[in-house]
Amino acid sequence: MTGRADERDYKIDPRRMGFEVTQAMQSRGQELVVLAADPDAGLRAVIAIHSTALGPALGGTRIYPYPSEEAALEDALRLSEGMSLKSAAAGLALGGGKAVIVGDPSRHKTPALLRSYGRLVHRLGGAYTTAEDVGTTVEDMLAVAETTGWVSGLPRAVGGSGDCSPMTARGVVAAMRAVAAHLWGSADLTGRRVAIQGVGKVGAELSRILTEAGARVLVSDIDDEAARQVAAETGGSRLGHDEVMSAECDFLAPCALGGVLNDDTIPTLRCAAIVGSANIQLDKDRHAPMLAERGIHYAPDFVVNAGGVINISVEFGVNGYRPEVAGARVAAIESRLSSILVAADARGLTPTETATEMARERINRACSEKLAERPGLTTARSSR
Ligand code: NAD
Repeated sequence: MTGRADERDYKIDPRRMGFEVTQAMQSRGQELVVLAADPDAGLRAVIAIHSTALGPALGGTRIYPYPSEEAALEDALRLSEGMSLKSAAAGLALGGGKAVIVGDPSRHKTPALLRSYGRLVHRLGGAYTTAEDVGTTVEDMLAVAETTGWVSGLPRAVGGSGDCSPMTARGVVAAMRAVAAHLWGSADLTGRRVAIQGVGKVGAELSRILTEAGARVLVSDIDDEAARQVAAETGGSRLGHDEVMSAECDFLAPCALGGVLNDDTIPTLRCAAIVGSANIQLDKDRHAPMLAERGIHYAPDFVVNAGGVINISVEFGVNGYRPEVAGARVAAIESRLSSILVAADARGLTPTETATEMARERINRACSEKLAERPGLTTARSSR
C-alpha cells in the first residue's frame, strides 16, 4: 500500500476507547498495550503484552481486515492472554504477547509496512518478541528482521526454527492421542473419524499426519479449492464449510479462526471430542461447561496448539534451534494433556478450568518471586 491509510474507516471516540481499553486491560491483568500508526507505511498496529512474569512476551503478528479498531484491540487482548496461558501451561520461560495489524494481507502487506512494524517492535526493547501468525509468513519475518532483532521463527536457512505450523499439527495429534487414551483406553488413532475445519498451514498438515496414522479425515475450508486438494491428497472426504461443525465424528478439529464454539454451534455438535489448533475456540468461558453438559470432551486450545511456540522456544536455547529437541518437546503435549484430563476428573472441573488454573498459578508464582527479588520491596516488607 502506498500513501496514507484510508481515514474513512478510522473513527474513534478517544474518551470511549480509553475507558474501554484500560477497563479491559485491568480485568485481564494486561501489562501494556501499544497503539501505533505510521501513515507513510500504511501501518495501523496494536501490540498487547499480557505478561512478562515468566519471561519476555512472545506471540505472533496477525494481519487481518478487522471491521473496527475495537475489534482489533479486543483480538490483541484476548490473543495475548492466550499466549501467556499457552507458554505457562507448556512450562516455557516466556510471557504472552500478540500484535495485530489492521489490513488485508493480500493488499496492505508491503515490505515498507513490515519494516515500519519492525521499528515499532524494536522500540519495546525486547519486552515483546514477534513471530508469524495468520496473515504473515516466515518470509515476512525476514522483512521485520531488517529493523529489529526481536523476531523469531525466521527461516531455517538463516538459523531460525522456520514455519512452525507442522509442529503445531504434530502437537494437535499428540493431544488427540491423549484424549483417545482417556476416553477409549487406547491412544491409537486408527479408524478414528476426524472432521477438520480449515485446511490452511496447520489443518492440511494435520490431515496428512492423521491419514498416515490410519485415521479418516473429513475436511472443509471456505476456500473450496484448498479443501478439494487436501481431500484428494489424503483420500479423505470433503465437507461443506457449513456442515463441518455438525459432522458426526470422533474428533472435531477447529483449525481456522477462534470463537467457533458458541451458543449457536454447541447444540448442533455431533462429535465425541474437540481437539484443534485454532486460538480461543470458546466464544465465552461459559462454553466450556456447556460442552461438558453435552458430554463433549473439549481439550483446551492453549494446551493443544502449543507446538508452534514450543518449536520457537527452542531457538532461544543455548544450542540454538534443533528440530529433534523441538519434536520431543512437542510430543510431550500428549503426557501434559493426559495429566490435565486426570486432574480435571479428580477435581470435578473441566479440562479448560483445570489447565487455566495451573497456568495462572505458575504466572502468579513468578510474579510473587519477582516482587520478592526487588530489594526495595523486600526491605519494606521485612521492616513491617
Ligand atoms: P491459515 O490461515 O494457514 O489457515 C486457516 C484456514 O482456515 C484457511 O485455509 C482459511 O481459508 C480457512 N478458514 C477460515 N475461515 C473458515 C471457516 N469459517 N470455515 C472453514 N475454513 C475456514 O492458518 P494456520 O496457520 O493454519 O492456523 C490455523 C489456526 O490455528 C489459527 O486460528 C491460528 O491462530 C492457530 N494456530 C496456528 C499455529 C501455527 O503454527 N500456524 C499455532 C498456534 C495456533
